[in-house]
Amino acid sequence: MTGIRIPLSHYWVLRNEGRSTPDEPVDYACYREPFVMDANLAPRFRDGRPAVNYAWHFDAQLVADYLRRIATRWGVKHVVDELASVEKRPDGYIKALHTRGGRVLEGGLFVDCSGFRALLINQALEEPFIDMSDHLLCDSAVATPLRHDDARFGIEPYTSAIAARHGWIWKTPMPGRFGTGYVYSSRFCSQDQAIREFSSQWGLNPEKTPFNRIRFRVGRNRRSWVKNCVSIGLSSCFLEPLESSGIYFITAAIYQLAKHFPDTTFNPVLVDRFNREIELMFDDSRDFIQAHFLTSSRDDTPFWRANGHDLKVSDALQDKLTTWKAGLTVNMPVASEEAYYGNFETEFRNFWTNSSYYCVLAGMGWRPDQPLATLKYRPSSVARAEDAFQRVKLQQQVMLRGLPSHYELLQQRHHPDGMGLARTGTSP
Ligand SMILES: Cc1cc2nc3c(=O)[nH]c(=O)nc-3n(C[C@H](O)[C@H](O)[C@H](O)COP(=O)(O)OP(=O)(O)OC[C@H]3O[C@@H](n4cnc5c(N)ncnc54)[C@H](O)[C@@H]3O)c2cc1C
Repeated sequence: MTGIRIPLSHYWVLRNEGRSTPDEPVDYACYREPFVMDANLAPRFRDGRPAVNYAWHFDAQLVADYLRRIATRWGVKHVVDELASVEKRPDGYIKALHTRGGRVLEGGLFVDCSGFRALLINQALEEPFIDMSDHLLCDSAVATPLRHDDARFGIEPYTSAIAARHGWIWKTPMPGRFGTGYVYSSRFCSQDQAIREFSSQWGLNPEKTPFNRIRFRVGRNRRSWVKNCVSIGLSSCFLEPLESSGIYFITAAIYQLAKHFPDTTFNPVLVDRFNREIELMFDDSRDFIQAHFLTSSRDDTPFWRANGHDLKVSDALQDKLTTWKAGLTVNMPVASEEAYYGNFETEFRNFWTNSSYYCVLAGMGWRPDQPLATLKYRPSSVARAEDAFQRVKLQQQVMLRGLPSHYELLQQRHHPDGMGLARTGTSP
């Protein structure tokens, strides 16, 4: 960021004005991370200092058990049973849940977390689900974990999204294995075809591999909160997992529920504001994910041609693309990483930043038609940007020389004694 808060990426556009291919891709020129990732290095130094911003994948079952333990310690009563029917009050509010085990669970506020079945919000309260399969075509996945020789090949410190004929394949490295799945559109490809293509990607025998077969709905409830029922998670909304947004949506919805928590009067302003926030969160993310598909130049299959020509595009995304082409910042740039990551409200309001859009659009080979015109009158800003480009290069070198491999860091954390390395004492 320089002078009048113009991100470095905009100077990268200026630098490459008139060139048919840029001297260096935007991510390698403007960010510290790409070389670190190419070299399979860790995001932390051996002494525990973080080198870059990063996030770990975690085991959902372990986290769920952990949260249950904390909640029950705080006095939450955990009941394992199956919902059989919903009893409503005359005004349509939920009065109680009746379970197969014969329990009657009364309550003031009900959180629907029944997954895609949305038993309370869509079924009992009949709130419509807005299907958005005209914005995003993928609606199915096949998945399996695969063993991996970490000592020999290292552990990639990133998740890959690999384009395929009718969608894309994720590869999420974990110690000793990686999770992988093919997200595809059932409109263009049968499950058998998807399994054959997915198997050939990894050299699997489709007859002998156990696949998890998943069907999902893309879209959101018209309102996530209706009367005294708040839907959170898959019962509220879902986007195909290209940006792994599911757990973030849950976290953000819990944050918004705490912020708008009602008393027994259920002030409609609180409910409306909550619903607006969820709508904004979802639609904004839908547009960002759509930008990956919409701007792809791939046109070798009907799936990719439909992505290029037939998608329904929101006015908001159209506006962002036009803004981008004119060389302006698409969304707010991040002023300081500490302020951004240290304040959830700031992050929520500007979740897909200018950098997010730059990496995707420039990565797809989409460059603005022209650099930001004002830069031509700011030679001192341009000089400062050149210094910043040099600093990025320097940081890249420092990290390439000093960071341990990702494999080494994870070994150290999982088997600290076996590695004979000092523990950092810092948990990720
Ligand atoms: C293909 C795919 C890939 C994904 N990848 C990612 C990712 O990389 N990152 C990420 O953050 N998110 C990802 N997600 C999303 C993530 O999996 C979900 O956000 C998360 O699991 C949602 O949890 P949930 O509690 O809403 O729903 P679920 O996990 O489906 O839980 C619903 C629960 O309701 C219970 N239930 C249903 N009916 C009844 C009944 N009658 N009585 C009692 N209980 C009932 C079910 O047993 C289940 O336990 C992915 C999702 C899919 C489909």
